[in-house]
Amino acid sequence: MKKAEESKVFDVIIVGGGVTGTALAYVLSAYVKSSADHSTGKKIALLEKNSGAAEVNSHPLNNAQTSHDGGTETNYGLAHALEVKVGAVALRCYVEARKDKGLFKKTHRMVLAVGAGEVKRVKNRFEKFSPYYEDIRLIGPEELATLEPMVMKGRNPDEPVCAMVSSEGYAVDYKKLSESLLDDAKMVNKNLDVFFNVKVQSVRREGGVYVLETNDGVFVAEAIVFAAGSYSLLFAQELGYGLNLGLLLVAGDFFSAPELVNGKVYRVQVEGRPFAEIHADPDVLNQRVTRFGPTTKPLPLMERHHYETFFDFIRLPIVSLRGAWCLAKIICKNNLFGYVFRNMVYSLPVVGKFFFLREARVIIPTIRYADLKIRKGVGGIRPQIVNLDTGELEMGDKTIVGENCIFNTTPSPGASVCIRNGKRDAEQIVKFFRGKYYFDYETFEKDLGTRKKEEK
Ligand SMILES: Cc1cc2nc3c(=O)[nH]c(=O)nc-3n(C[C@H](O)[C@H](O)[C@H](O)COP(=O)(O)OP(=O)(O)OC[C@H]3O[C@@H](n4cnc5c(N)ncnc54)[C@H](O)[C@@H]3O)c2cc1C
Repeated sequence: MKKAEESKVFDVIIVGGGVTGTALAYVLSAYVKSSADHSTGKKIALLEKNSGAAEVNSHPLNNAQTSHDGGTETNYGLAHALEVKVGAVALRCYVEARKDKGLFKKTHRMVLAVGAGEVKRVKNRFEKFSPYYEDIRLIGPEELATLEPMVMKGRNPDEPVCAMVSSEGYAVDYKKLSESLLDDAKMVNKNLDVFFNVKVQSVRREGGVYVLETNDGVFVAEAIVFAAGSYSLLFAQELGYGLNLGLLLVAGDFFSAPELVNGKVYRVQVEGRPFAEIHADPDVLNQRVTRFGPTTKPLPLMERHHYETFFDFIRLPIVSLRGAWCLAKIICKNNLFGYVFRNMVYSLPVVGKFFFLREARVIIPTIRYADLKIRKGVGGIRPQIVNLDTGELEMGDKTIVGENCIFNTTPSPGASVCIRNGKRDAEQIVKFFRGKYYFDYETFEKDLGTRKKEEK
């Protein structure tokens, strides 16, 4: 860990050491080269306010640990799914090449359809998606009973059931991934400095460069990238970008249960609802524990369990009459009132578990009240963008690009596409520097592209 004694000058400063910031540090270090001598020696700093990488949403206790690729995600249309797939391939090439057993677990991932309506939707989806996803197949109750016995045990035999299963199920420890990306980045770029315990307090543009005030002195850079989760939007607004945007901060809780599933079992998305249904999967940290979740609960906090971040939340323009009107419109338009209320109830002592049991039983019909335990002190927060001009929720990725600056607030689907987003931001940085650097596409494709995956 380094301490900044005086004003430090860099080509690029990345703020945030979660999976987004560390993936960018890696891609910039490994694949963006100097046009003069093809070296990788850009001066980069990564500033992280915590004492290590990935302590917030990228921590394995705080997210669902899934590598999404669009195949079984019923909330994605085909075009979006195929974009996500490119990102998933890059991530999987990276983790597989590391040979670190703790980094990921390979499993199956499925979407379970229960009832005639869901079965029909999943079958239709399979028809449409299977030409693009060689790893998916449709299975009926018999095969489901072999693959996931507890999903079929005790189920009403008259109820139609099927599942679309992917053999490419990956559970990833995104904290380990962040640490690995940083180690690899430092190995190829000796000019990468990582500063932990350094919190950016303010940012301004002065004399054509960016000046970042921190608790540890002043940092200066030609280009800046905020990969600071919800805080990225606050800093963007400090520089005059994204002033028409607010955040709906949606916390996700998890429940624990004994070993019940062998792979990731997702439920079908409710049509028109902007939030995904709960799923069950083995914890990447302990395969003998099944996690159910995440739930969906709006909270006025920038970071989960950090109550002091409420005071930053109220600096956002969502805390205004216009913001309140937008939130009311979103809740009414998407019919979210009952859904949000139910999700709030799940956190209540004693009765919360009782109501959540009904959700969990769609996946595991025989699960009992005593099997479920709410996980305390864990779970992250998804910052969802609210457009205050239109009063609409903007789902998916939100990146603001300004003059030599990038702000990533809601990478989507989050951690799964971190390397693809790192590539996208690195390409933008190459443009900022107008010819000084180039992106080495050939090496990137060789290491992390679809060609590499097909060779396997
Ligand atoms: C419940 C839940 C389940 C999810 N499940 C999945 C899943 O299964 N698969 C998936 O792909 N994605 C999932 N996601 C999304 C995923 O977790 C996030 O998109 C991803 O972790 C975001 O990474 P990040 O680096 O952008 O943000 P974070 O991991 O939150 O990192 C931001 C970093 O910025 C730092 N920071 C903030 N402000 C400052 C400052 N002022 N100065 C210095 N540093 C600062 C923070 O300390 C933090 O380390 C889930 C999210 C939630 C909440």
